[in-house]
Amino acid sequence: MGVSLDHARELDRQDPLAGFKPHFALPEGVLYLDGNSLGAQPVSAREAVAGTLDQWRDELIKGWNQGWFDAPERLGNLLAPVIGAGQGEVVVTDNITLNIFKLLGYITGQRTDGRRVVLSEGGNFPTDGYIAQGFCRFGDFEHRFLPEGAELADHLDGVAVVVLSQVNYRTGRLRDMAAITRQVHERGAEVIWDLAHSAGALPVDLNACGARYAVGCTYKYLNGGPGAPAFLYAHRDHQGGGWQPLSGWHGHAAPFAFEDDYAPAGDITRFRTGTHSALIYSALEASLTMWADVDMAALREKSLAMTELFRDCLADLLLVHGIEDITPAAGERGSQVSLVDTENGFAIVQALIARGVIGDYREPGLMRFGFTPLYLSFEDVWQAARHFREMLESGEYREPRFHVRSAVT
Ligand SMILES: *Cc1c(COP(=O)(O)O)cnc(C)c1O
Repeated sequence: MGVSLDHARELDRQDPLAGFKPHFALPEGVLYLDGNSLGAQPVSAREAVAGTLDQWRDELIKGWNQGWFDAPERLGNLLAPVIGAGQGEVVVTDNITLNIFKLLGYITGQRTDGRRVVLSEGGNFPTDGYIAQGFCRFGDFEHRFLPEGAELADHLDGVAVVVLSQVNYRTGRLRDMAAITRQVHERGAEVIWDLAHSAGALPVDLNACGARYAVGCTYKYLNGGPGAPAFLYAHRDHQGGGWQPLSGWHGHAAPFAFEDDYAPAGDITRFRTGTHSALIYSALEASLTMWADVDMAALREKSLAMTELFRDCLADLLLVHGIEDITPAAGERGSQVSLVDTENGFAIVQALIARGVIGDYREPGLMRFGFTPLYLSFEDVWQAARHFREMLESGEYREPRFHVRSAVT
């Protein structure tokens, strides 16, 4: 295996984050390497959701005045330190897709220079491009793709706003947010950062990077639960700019005045739309309360050590089986390992899942393994690699049952 089990156990003994693992409810026999798609359940989430169910039963509509209504701002403030934002700069609301749409309208609505181009990245998680295309189609803007691997500087002419992921969902490649933000601003454009694969995966410092706008989700590395709301960040100096296009009542300056005409709230609240689910917000709040105690530098260190351990355990095996490791170098990676096998990738992931090692598969040929420092131990990583080795060497992935596709992969 290249690395001994004893070595992995020694790393666990030295791990300053080891105390978080018991705060997650993971099924027996599962090695979960898919926290980059759906984070594991914090033990406290069950009680939190049950508490909200009781509150609904006992308090009925009074619950909205007992923490439900202002949850988007309260949770935004809880989340803010995790992404390097200040108080009042983050609201937890809707999903990433809608939040990008809102920011596109908000940003372009303030431009007076006639720039009409919205740039999004080829090879990014598709919804970012899809919603940019929808926005342009209905708003008389021009959508362009930044081709994957191309120089951003060569594509910024005439651009009003660009949507970029800090960490690419496929390769795990990490961008230099500070440098790129500066570059985009110097060229007279704005950038919306998508933090889907960086929030909770590594230290993010929006304020220090000079970022004005960002979105991200809470159900991946932040463990908010299936369908947990996304977040939207707008720097405090960029919250007074006018309307966002999804001008619903919760973003109104006085939602309970029930006025006919819309007037946006003067702060981050303007990015809310309409009624949200108190139940899922309570699950997310339980998780974010835990995140308040996480040392992000230690998180990064463990994340890199785990991804290295996994790769070290598998390096010789991957070579033999012709599997390509496209994981970027340590300083340029998020918290995932990305392997490519266009012929057998899908079946390999299914065979691993059958062994309790849960990763995921993305076309074409990409096997993704997410490493979540709060609930994975180094021994878990070692055991996952052992399964990988046994599964490949036995050839069990060739069994027909591992070649059947279902709706969600
Ligand atoms: C997961 C992910 C999304 C999800 O978008 P939703 O609208 O919240 O479903 C968006 N963008 C990126 C880059 C993602 O990884």
